[in-house]
Amino acid sequence: MTIAIPRTATTTATVAASDQRALPRVVGASLRVPLVTGERVEYANLDHAASAPCLEQVRDVVDEVLPWYASVHRGAGFASQVTTKVYEQARTSVRRFLGARSSDAVVFTRNTTDALNLLARSLPKRTAVLLFDTDHHAALLPWRGPDVRRLRTPATPAAAVLELDRALREAPVGPRLLVVTGASNVTGEVWPVAELARVARRHGARIALDAAQLAPHRPVDVRALDVDYTVLSGHKLYAPFGAGVLVGRSDWLQAAEPYLVGGGATARVTDHGDRLGVAWSAVPERHEAGSPNVVGVHALAVACDVLGRHWEQTVEHERALLARLRAGLATVPGVRELALFGADHDRVGVVSFTVGGQDVGYLSAALSAEHGIGVRDGAFCAHVAVHRLTGGDRALRASLGLGTTEEHVDRFVAALRALVTEGSRWDYELRDGRWAPLNDERALPPFLR
Ligand code: PLP
Repeated sequence: MTIAIPRTATTTATVAASDQRALPRVVGASLRVPLVTGERVEYANLDHAASAPCLEQVRDVVDEVLPWYASVHRGAGFASQVTTKVYEQARTSVRRFLGARSSDAVVFTRNTTDALNLLARSLPKRTAVLLFDTDHHAALLPWRGPDVRRLRTPATPAAAVLELDRALREAPVGPRLLVVTGASNVTGEVWPVAELARVARRHGARIALDAAQLAPHRPVDVRALDVDYTVLSGHKLYAPFGAGVLVGRSDWLQAAEPYLVGGGATARVTDHGDRLGVAWSAVPERHEAGSPNVVGVHALAVACDVLGRHWEQTVEHERALLARLRAGLATVPGVRELALFGADHDRVGVVSFTVGGQDVGYLSAALSAEHGIGVRDGAFCAHVAVHRLTGGDRALRASLGLGTTEEHVDRFVAALRALVTEGSRWDYELRDGRWAPLNDERALPPFLR
């Protein structure tokens, strides 16, 4: 039977030429937030690296599909069949977005952390895992056992390639996996993925790419990079509906025990009296037990489709804003930008820095309370990297994306300069280890009251 699927933005092939050229818009672009002084200003979200706002097109298409939402996979009803098609079709969008091989499995997960843990559980016994120690904890921590080799991140990309080559020469015979981050969530620096993959390949190793921070900013072509596995999160890719993905070679995933056990991961369960016989499903269902997050997966697929059509504008938008941000920061007394590979190395729109003599937690609280600016302070789930780069455990991070404007960047730089040179205009106290404004009467939105 052929199902005539309703036409949604993902299935609609014709996109107006003007829409193709425009920068994709995000939900909440004109959100106004209260300041402690009682004024309201447009929110300057400079925390895209943590979670990006939702694309308008993602919101619209989710809205369009919701009336059709029904049970997925085994439902006999027409809406169930539509829902199933929406879910399965999403694998094609993700595969196309990443330039993945047609044979690659596309396994939907909750996020990057979940995807990397799934991969870690699916490795053949005694796989030697090699990674660099400045990675995000999601990439650093899931691998266990004696065969994990953490490499100290050297000062240049070329040295990183040499370091990997040396480590692989010494690695035990058997399956090997290099885990590499596409772009650092601390410094935004782009890692030499293709060069590292070339060396890994020469030593017969597979390569897993943590694209959580790279994929929202730059096109990722897994075949050109020659990586075997790629992971990313929908909430960083303008699709904050709780889905992530692992894309890659299916053999290890197929040979592994299911990541979660339960319905969906089973082809057949038989009663043998004292025990149950279980035949597990093939990938991807093998690792997608339980009712899947259809809406999240659909949102992720639509974000892939939209970004995939707008790379030129997206990259140019971020390049210009990043240059503006860095030039502005260079004028603020005491600012020291963090870099693994040096100030001139290629980076996406993420900048972390310290400010001499200043508590970055205090600064971020004041930026929010007095200027309506959202940044991040701390160690960004990359404690080793932040400690290595600062000698301490805190930095301030400003990260850009499709929701960022020139005004946001300029306001941030001016506010930071004023805080550093003149101090804050409000009083703050430490509450549970975090700075908070005194007498904060900012009202929460009505749905929270
Ligand atoms: N990898 C990198 C480079 C990240 O920046 C992040 C999140 O900040 C993660 C992995 C983990 O992503 P998630 O929290 O969505 O699992």
